[in-house]
Amino acid sequence: MKFESLKQKRRRIAQYQIGKLLETAKQLSLKDPDLAEQTATLAWRIATRHNVRLGPYRLLFFCRKCKRFILPLLQHSRYRFSRKRKSINITCLYCGKTYRKIIPKTKIG
Ligand SMILES: [Zn+2]
Repeated sequence: MKFESLKQKRRRIAQYQIGKLLETAKQLSLKDPDLAEQTATLAWRIATRHNVRLGPYRLLFFCRKCKRFILPLLQHSRYRFSRKRKSINITCLYCGKTYRKIIPKTKIG
């Protein structure tokens, strides 16, 4: 069996829990937005505490400035596609911050 340090073990468990929490948050977001946000905040706190990377896909659900849980479905954020800059402009409607997600050139074709 491969040796795993305590730190690695903690991270692996944290990664797993974050995945589960965000999945729950997404499911809850339509029924109970408040609870969904609490769940997402918990996931964020676990990630920062254990230094776990969320990955590009999961990061989309959090505002870059106020770190709140934003889903386009609930109109907490606005998504705009910019052809000129080849990016997605995401506006958080809680704090009004707009930030860009650059699309890698290879994916445009
Ligand atoms: Zn924000």
